[in-house]
Amino acid sequence: MPELPEVETVVSDLNKKIKGDMIASFWSEWGKAIKGKSIETFKKEIKNRKILGARRIGKNIFIDLSGGKTLYIHLKMTGHLLVKKKEERSKNKEKSDYFSDRVNQYIRHKFFLKSGRTLEFSDLRKFGKIVLDSTEKINNLKEIKALGVDALDPKFTFQKFQEILRKKSSAKIGIILMDQDLIAGIGNIYRSEILYDAGILPERIIKSISEKDLRKIYDATKKILKKAIKMRGTSDSDYRDTSGAPGNFQKILAVYNREKRGCKRCDTIIQRKVLGQRSVFICSKCQK
Ligand SMILES: [Zn+2]
Repeated sequence: MPELPEVETVVSDLNKKIKGDMIASFWSEWGKAIKGKSIETFKKEIKNRKILGARRIGKNIFIDLSGGKTLYIHLKMTGHLLVKKKEERSKNKEKSDYFSDRVNQYIRHKFFLKSGRTLEFSDLRKFGKIVLDSTEKINNLKEIKALGVDALDPKFTFQKFQEILRKKSSAKIGIILMDQDLIAGIGNIYRSEILYDAGILPERIIKSISEKDLRKIYDATKKILKKAIKMRGTSDSDYRDTSGAPGNFQKILAVYNREKRGCKRCDTIIQRKVLGQRSVFICSKCQK
């Protein structure tokens, strides 16, 4: 699933490529992804709206439109947003590879823009979600209101981090980091990388972690996420940006998916464990 750095890359791409454009028409082969209205109603309501800009909270994407409307998109497990120019649609891409072919094979929805570009939503497993409503109603959706502070929001200070953890002092740090209702944006890949960078084991109970070590986790969170954005995300599986290109952070992953390989710092064998029903990767020597 795309996490904060991947979604941030998509959002900044959207602002570069389609901000100011206008939605001319819409096509979908999977109406169930569109929540609360039929494809026909959706088509009517989205037509001729100007794209004012894209933003995100955690892994959730919001595209603000003219007339006080917002398009809310969640990519879920296998969603991708692609922006294509007219000429890119007609010819087969020369730099095609297995995953970008697969991404292109599962286009479920297309927004045709006035400029001739298309915004295409690929979704192999069809878990992705699209909601169109007034900006106010979107902001007040149960799942949006429930979201915790975004991990890169300036409001997510060390003090705020401690405040969140104090309420969950008997929980494991590796579980809490991924709880979107507490801190939004961190998933499976980055929790492993953050905790390795901080030198803390994911199964540690929060109240057993010193303030100094909590500070390390907090600093590692900001550092790793920012670095991953700079590298345009992690394409460990099928993540692609809006042009279909992979990210680069997978090249420098320290522990994630490096089971049975040597730790880059100390050569201890990286272990895979399961925590909160998801894999977590650790170095038992570098992390305490
Ligand atoms: Zn190590």
